Amino acid sequence: MRKLLCITAHPDDEAGAFGGTLLVYGERGVQTSVVCLTAGTAARNRGTSRSNEELAELRRREFAASCRVLKVAHGEVLDYPDAKLDRVELYRAAGDLALRIREIRPQVVITFGPDGGLTAHLDHAMAGLFATMAFEWAGRPDRYPEQLQGGLTPHRVQKLYYATSDFILTDRQPIAPPPVTARIEIGKERFARKNEAFRQHTTQTPLFDRVRKNLEHSTSTTEMYHLAATSSPREATLESDLFEGVEDE
Ligand SMILES: [Zn+2]
Repeated sequence: MRKLLCITAHPDDEAGAFGGTLLVYGERGVQTSVVCLTAGTAARNRGTSRSNEELAELRRREFAASCRVLKVAHGEVLDYPDAKLDRVELYRAAGDLALRIREIRPQVVITFGPDGGLTAHLDHAMAGLFATMAFEWAGRPDRYPEQLQGGLTPHRVQKLYYATSDFILTDRQPIAPPPVTARIEIGKERFARKNEAFRQHTTQTPLFDRVRKNLEHSTSTTEMYHLAATSSPREATLESDLFEGVEDE
């Protein structure tokens, strides 16, 4: 079975950054999963919540609703501190993600690049770095051997992609985006569903207008990626399918 794992930083990234791609592959019978590192409790927009715990609870529910719209088979929100992923120990976070990779066993992983994506968010950059090390280490029996004691085996993901784009937002911190090597056409209908998924994050309603503006700036029915690593050496070519060249195990 073909499987796609998406690693994000905040509830709503799965919709805003990866929503169209998750829909495309879900429709093709690929089992899609999202692992989100934080519950997004550093958000300025806090809905009706009166505490971080209440906000975490709300945002986890919104994440689950968004995953339903995106037909994501497995969604999980971890408990890392929002807005502080650059202070998190790499060994621990990469280990948590390596464990998910060894359990889910995807052929393809999508995440953010070290630029932090269009918004240049530090948490996005860190999620991408943790995911990158997890991609490398999940396949090595010498990394996190304690995970392998209960019957779990190392898993080599075949392809790792960073979300990227062919434009930048000028009102953000400067970024150096990885070059586009894959373009996924999501079409108008999926674009509408992606927005619908984003709107499930009702605590973030005040952000909707800004996000809509960002999306209009782009060729909005295309999501772009950079092929960052593969389990078998190759030259980069422009792709229109993230599973191009993936071998069934
Ligand atoms: Zn985010």
